Parts: sequence; C-alpha cells; structure tokens
Amino acid sequence: MILAEAFRHFQAGRLSLRYWSGYNMKLHEYQAKEIFSKAGIPTPKGQLITAANQANKATQTVSGPPWVVKAQIHAGGRGKGGGVKVVQSSYDVVVAAESILGKPLVTKQTGDDGVKVNQILIEEGVDIDREFYLGMVVDRATRMPTMIFSQAGGMEIEEVAANTPDLILKEHVNPITGWLPMQAGNLIFKLDPVPPPSVRKGLMTVMANIYKVFLANDCSLVEINPLVTTTDEKVLAVDAKMTIDDNAMYRQKALAELDDPREKDPLELKAEKYGLNYIRLDGSIGAMVNGAGLAMATMDVIKSAGASPANFLDVGGGANEEMISKGFEIILGDRRVKAVLINIFGGILRCDVLARGVLAAAEKKSIRVPLIVRLEGTNVDEGRKILQNSNLKFFVAKDLAEAAELVAQQV
Ligand code: ADP
Ligand code: MG
Repeated sequence: MILAEAFRHFQAGRLSLRYWSGYNMKLHEYQAKEIFSKAGIPTPKGQLITAANQANKATQTVSGPPWVVKAQIHAGGRGKGGGVKVVQSSYDVVVAAESILGKPLVTKQTGDDGVKVNQILIEEGVDIDREFYLGMVVDRATRMPTMIFSQAGGMEIEEVAANTPDLILKEHVNPITGWLPMQAGNLIFKLDPVPPPSVRKGLMTVMANIYKVFLANDCSLVEINPLVTTTDEKVLAVDAKMTIDDNAMYRQKALAELDDPREKDPLELKAEKYGLNYIRLDGSIGAMVNGAGLAMATMDVIKSAGASPANFLDVGGGANEEMISKGFEIILGDRRVKAVLINIFGGILRCDVLARGVLAAAEKKSIRVPLIVRLEGTNVDEGRKILQNSNLKFFVAKDLAEAAELVAQQV
C-alpha cells in the first residue's frame, strides 16, 4: 500500500521522501491568522504574548470579556487538551496564561510527553452560532486543489468523515478557471438550514480567499476548523492551520522566516544540521536507508513482517562516513528504538563507507539494541568484512525479506 502511494508521487513528479512523508513547514495559528486577515478572511482580533505578565495589558487592547486564551503549538486538539480557555475577566486571563505558558501541553496529536507552550494568543471571544469546517488540500486522485466543507465543524473531522461521510462536501478547483462562485453555491446551498443571505455572502468571500491563500503561499494544507457564523451574522475563522510545501520554500522566503524550530523534534533538527533526512514515526524499529524508494520499500517489508518503524533516516547517495556516523547516533538517541535495521543499496554511497560510519558511531555510543544489516551493491564484500571484523554484534541478512523477519523477531 505504501509502495502504491509512493508510485503515485513518482508519477506526480514528487520523488522526495520528505514530501511523501508530509514533511511540510507548519505555521502557528496566530501566523496563519495574520495571513488570513490580510487576504480578506475575517478573524477574531487577538494579541500574542510570551510571558504571563503581558496578559493583563493584552486585555486592554483586545476587546472582551469573554477572552479566549490559546496555546500556540504545532498540534491540533488543543481545546480538548486544555490549551484553549474561554474566560470572563482580565484576572482569569492572567490565571489561564500562567497555567498554560511554559508547560507541556498534551493533546491527541502531541504524544504523551506533550509540547512545551512558548507563546499564547489572547483573543476576543466571539458569540458562535454555527461551526463549519473549511479546508483546502491537493486531491491526489484528481491532482487538483480541493475545497472541503462541512457543516459538522469544530469536531474531529476525521470522525465525521468516517461515520457520516455525507456531511463532508468537496469541490475540485480547475486551475485554469480558478475557484468559481458557482462552486461556493454548490457547497453553501447544501447546508441544512441554508444560512441567511449575509452569511452566505460571508462564506463565499472566505471560500474565494482561502483558495487565493492556498495558491499564493504554496500550501499543502489550509484549514479553518471551526469557521464560525456569529449570532450577529458575521463569518469568522476562529482557528487557522496552514502548512507550506517544503518544495516551494525556495520561493517563499518571507514564510521561511515564520518557521519555529522550537516546535521540531530535536532529533529532526539534528539531522537537518547534518544534511540528513530524518522522519519520526510511531513504531519501534530504527531504519537507516539510502534513497526515498528504498525507504518506502523498507517500510513496507517492516510492516508486513508485523513490526513498525520508529523513524526513517535517509542518508541519501552522497553521504560520507561522518554523516553516516551522525545519522546512526541520531537513531540510537531515540529511546523508543528497540532494534535497528540498516538497509543500504550501495551505489554512489559505497558499502565500506557505510560500514566505517556505523563503527565510528558505535565507538562513541554504546549500542544496546540489536542491529540487523542488509547491504548490497558497490564494495559490499568489503563493507560486510568491516562489520564482521568489528566487535559489534550484527545479524546480517541476505535479502530484504530476511532482514524484515529478523527485525520482527527482535521486538
Ligand atoms: P483546537 O482545534 O486546537 O482545539 P480551536 O482554535 O479550534 O483549537 O479552539 C477550540 C474551540 O474553542 C473551538 O472549536 C471554538 O468552539 C472555541 N474557540 C476558539 N477560539 C474562540 C474564540 N475566539 N471565540 C469563541 N470561541 C472560540
Ligand atoms: Mg480547531
């Protein structure tokens, strides 16, 4: 299945492991909202603060009560995790800010350790009448930007999609014609009840503008959940999520400035520093590979053997001994890794270089997990010899299937 996925991307000309894994730069809610409001998508007024003693002052510029205190982290589900608090007095804004700032926030999307909250948004509370979901992604099947709209917003949209798919509406956008007002009509007139004319107009404006935002910023995703209508018939983006396609970073210099490295996995940051592609996943097998295609094949066999990868480290073709060694340290630095699979097809990267890199890392860091190695290609004999003559314990597999089985036995 993963391979099929990969091939679709090959066909679409996106042969990049980072792309395939959805490696995209995320913006914070407050950053996305700034872009929205410049593009004519109304948002509640708010102010960003980084320390609790700025909270009281913020309530003097942001209208309220009620105020909403919102943790700014690159993960959703903040509301349910206690990271969004609606409060009725400036005193309570301060209390909420103190309780959220500087502490880890655990949500459905963060993992058990949570993510430290460095900044919060103090926002005017709006009087919500209805909550919609509005998003835009590129649909893989049609390869067109696609608007997704639902009247069941504010909840887990995945659950809505699974249980009541009829409530999820879609419109593909032909890039030649762009977003057409008629398409907005297709979505809005399926609402039950159909909103009054002023709200319909507001929704149409937001839909047209979200498409412009999506294009102008090379987004892989723009999401407003919820897009609300207020009791006085305004339409507002109460939440905002934007991810930027990494492949477009070269022409999105201003957006690159908005990157918040504090939100990244420390191991990912380290890998980036050494020019390695590292992707964190949920399983327990550390995997070192070279090349996006091999990465996907390796993921497939690990899964079909009944295990699952904790990460992928793609050392690429041009890696040298030092990069391999650093990469291996990164894999070993992940507490969740219970076994490591090294699956290298030696081409430009020779197997002996790989072997020396692995040994160099092993000298620095004690290895407490089993290593399974499958080497093939340029200088394979020399590479194997180097590993066998070391005092490290390896399981050497003759092919990928055997490698996967050995891995699965270890966890
Ligand atoms: P998340 O999706 O991470 O849980 P949201 O920004 O969607 O965070 O906030 C969660 C919920 O809090 C929203 O569905 C909405 O009901 C409420 N909320 C958020 N911001 C405001 C606001 N400015 N005014 C009123 N309600 C809000
Ligand atoms: Mg939300």
